[in-house]
Amino acid sequence: MPKKTPATTTAAARPQVVKIPRDRHSVSRRDISENALKVLYRLNKSGFEAYLVGGCVRDLLLGLTPKDFDVATNAKPEEIRQLFKNCRLIGRRFRLAHIVFGRDVIEVATFRGHHPDEAEEQQSRAQTSDDGQLLRDNIYGTIEEDAQRRDFTVNALYYSVADFAIYDFVGGMQDLEAGRLRLIGDPESRYREDPVRMLRAVRFATKLGLRIDDSCRHLIPKLAPLLDNIPAARLFEEFLKLFLHKKAVANFETLNDLGLMAPLLPVLKTPLKDPNSLEYRMAVQAFSDTDARLQEDKSVNPGYLFAALLWYPMVSRAEEIMQEASLPELDAYQIAAADIVQVQARSISLPKRFSLPMRDIWLLQLRLQQTSPRRAMRLLTHPKFRAGYDFLLLRGRVENDKQLKALGEFWTKFQAENPDVAPMPSSPNKARRSSRSGRPRRRRSPKAKND
Ligand code: ATP
Ligand code: MG
Repeated sequence: MPKKTPATTTAAARPQVVKIPRDRHSVSRRDISENALKVLYRLNKSGFEAYLVGGCVRDLLLGLTPKDFDVATNAKPEEIRQLFKNCRLIGRRFRLAHIVFGRDVIEVATFRGHHPDEAEEQQSRAQTSDDGQLLRDNIYGTIEEDAQRRDFTVNALYYSVADFAIYDFVGGMQDLEAGRLRLIGDPESRYREDPVRMLRAVRFATKLGLRIDDSCRHLIPKLAPLLDNIPAARLFEEFLKLFLHKKAVANFETLNDLGLMAPLLPVLKTPLKDPNSLEYRMAVQAFSDTDARLQEDKSVNPGYLFAALLWYPMVSRAEEIMQEASLPELDAYQIAAADIVQVQARSISLPKRFSLPMRDIWLLQLRLQQTSPRRAMRLLTHPKFRAGYDFLLLRGRVENDKQLKALGEFWTKFQAENPDVAPMPSSPNKARRSSRSGRPRRRRSPKAKND
């Protein structure tokens, strides 16, 4: 087959593989999880090809600590299962093997062939099922095909423990050295196949300090509305990755510049064009507080963040309702909160364990205005008092409003005067299910101790 130069490579073309030997790259076995190494060696010993691939190779080359170690192989899922007692097969259309070492899981995927329906596959990755639904015959492929169907060139580097070399089919190494994030193949078709890649582009650029290549960047504002078709649950996962990993402000600014905030938070559409609007200032303040808390290893809650992002639209809606029907403020807030949650759920669905605290935080803003000693004392025991109070201070800072600040100071003092009064715990059901980021995490593998 005639070879094309990397610059004109398309998804269908087969570029020549570039092999980067051990003495020309910085990936060392010392930095690779012991469990991942075991999996790679066992597959190789049994006659299969096996490579580390994706984020872990990229991160190691950049001197970062990988979140997890993923393996790609030419062994089929059933063959992988026969090799590892501790193997669980997951996924329906495309089966993945999870090799389980206590709480550490190494994900092993068989090389994948070309497949048009990428978005649907990304969805089915999230489901775990072992019911053995029939697979399409052509779903598996060669390593070259596997590389071509990944998203960015820097995410398609393969590291082998057979010769400690890195294999590059798409010019990922050059891009990494040039600090460039580039989609594999034709950018427009790759975004159309899976519009979430636009969000991933921003996230990787920010996290890794890479520049989104112009060929991929300029298309984003035009294609951003395609995100409207992505299932709300998947967007929630992406939202957490974008905003609960220390780079929230940077991600927000880039997403907003590229027109990607509107599909995520449609109720904010217009105000985010104006950096002086309350909505914009609230977003920046809430994101920078989130980054600062994570930096100090403090917990962050998606419900609180959503409460901040959607606060002003909720208040405007409540004001409308109060004008339309002469309802008390509390009732208007409750109806407005329900309306906003409903609109928001069409783009990003916020699980109840986060939307309920968000509503509590909003309604507490009314109750915090009542400062008689008896009411104030009772409010101190409210399970969400602390979040409501923090939110009041946040509003004070955003609005730079004297009255709000004075109210904040009242509550600061009142708490100091009543150090023994503590909030009641939330119901055990809610408490058990909430976690820092809202989803179970795959634990990072422990590093190899000696190698
Ligand atoms: P992170 O550090 O955020 O985990 P990652 O690169 O490992 O980054 P994952 O979402 O864990 O990202 O995906 C693992 C790999 O799977 C990616 O590196 C990429 O090669 C491939 N991949 C993931 N999502 C997509 C997608 N939407 N389209 C194409 N390839 C994808
Ligand atoms: Mg990963």
